[in-house]
Amino acid sequence: MIKTDVCIIGAGPSGAATSLMLSNLKISHYIIDKEIFPRDKACGDGLILYAYKVMKLLGNNLFEEFLNHPKFLHSKRIKLHINNKQHILFSESEDRDMLISYAKRIDFDHFLVEHLSETYAQKEFGNGVKSLEEKPAGILIKLKDGKEILAKIIVGADGAQSIVSKKLANNKIDTKNMSTFVTAYFNGVKDIPKGNDAEVRIIYKNMPLFFYVFPFANGDSNVTLGGNSNQIKKYNINLIDEIENIISTNENIQHKFTNATRIGKWRGWVIPYRFEKQKMIGNRFLLVGDAAGLANAFYKEGIGTGMMSGVIAARNIERSLKYNDFSESFLKNYEVEIKNEFGKLLKFSFYMLKISRFKRLFSLVVFIFKKRISKKSFRIIKKRSY
Ligand SMILES: Cc1cc2nc3c(=O)[nH]c(=O)nc-3n(C[C@H](O)[C@H](O)[C@H](O)COP(=O)(O)OP(=O)(O)OC[C@H]3O[C@@H](n4cnc5c(N)ncnc54)[C@H](O)[C@@H]3O)c2cc1C
Repeated sequence: MIKTDVCIIGAGPSGAATSLMLSNLKISHYIIDKEIFPRDKACGDGLILYAYKVMKLLGNNLFEEFLNHPKFLHSKRIKLHINNKQHILFSESEDRDMLISYAKRIDFDHFLVEHLSETYAQKEFGNGVKSLEEKPAGILIKLKDGKEILAKIIVGADGAQSIVSKKLANNKIDTKNMSTFVTAYFNGVKDIPKGNDAEVRIIYKNMPLFFYVFPFANGDSNVTLGGNSNQIKKYNINLIDEIENIISTNENIQHKFTNATRIGKWRGWVIPYRFEKQKMIGNRFLLVGDAAGLANAFYKEGIGTGMMSGVIAARNIERSLKYNDFSESFLKNYEVEIKNEFGKLLKFSFYMLKISRFKRLFSLVVFIFKKRISKKSFRIIKKRSY
């Protein structure tokens, strides 16, 4: 049996950021993923706010390499259209580089994994976790190939269907606080704005559906649609039919798709937003990213918040190792720090999503606060970004 102080399960952005921060703190650890990188993940592929903040904070030239990566594209503007009638423009100031970046997950996640430390990170990829068992000396992790690892503390960074969340925290799948999205890549999408602005639309179909078109450096685009999982079920919405209908008939969108071809299949997946609605810590474990339900309910930032939670988790693990205390009560500090970092923003976004269900009320709120939102967004962006 292998023995280690720390084991991270999942090497997506949240697990990779945890590993990079642990390495900065000179803490040796295991990092496991059932996949071999580069591996793909259904996503909108948009990076904002915390993704920048974390890459900068992690140092080692990560942020600079990200900015200069030939496959990643950066833009200064996001245009949020509400029901074809109103829009809010979020734009970066002249002196700053970008507000949103587009990076296919197959490339971005690989980019992060390639930066994992050769000294401190022991990688175990292509080998999934089969079971977890609490032992007096730690958590026993059994892998698909029969290997066993005993860790003093583990990090559940294994996404929306986390085995750590299910088995150790006893969290249940909660479709009320979850979104379902479908996404596909296209080539030949026309009329992408000059500055590669992100196109985000709220389209009402008994419920608000969020529609995104994000362009890439190679000319492909990511096209995505989704909304609250419970409501999609309630209104019997078939997201694939719906998005195909939008791109072929919506008067503001169809012209972009006249010569566009879908590359590959539509892929669906979920985004849990369960901040303060689920357990995030317990004896000898912490959850980060989607496993902890930390995505933003309204604008669906899950990569950046996941990465930031990884950094906070690593700092708390350092503390646990120092005091040799891995108890739930000692790890409470992780929860407090997550709340301090994201609490207000995630709650605000949660209520924005709730209001957006009421089309008229939401339009009125946007009408009243539009100027203030656009003006204030600079401050928010700067504080939570780079
Ligand atoms: C369609 C869609 C569009 C989205 N668009 C955006 C967007 O534009 N911007 C944004 O910021 N967020 C977006 N999100 C959310 C974002 O994808 C997630 O929040 C983000 O991937 C969370 O990262 P993570 O590292 O926590 O989990 P993941 O990226 O899911 O990584 C989890 C890792 O754990 C591994 N794993 C799982 N189970 C096991 C196991 N048993 N053993 C070993 N390894 C395991 C997996 O292989 C995977 O590599 C979108 C989500 C969807 C579904």
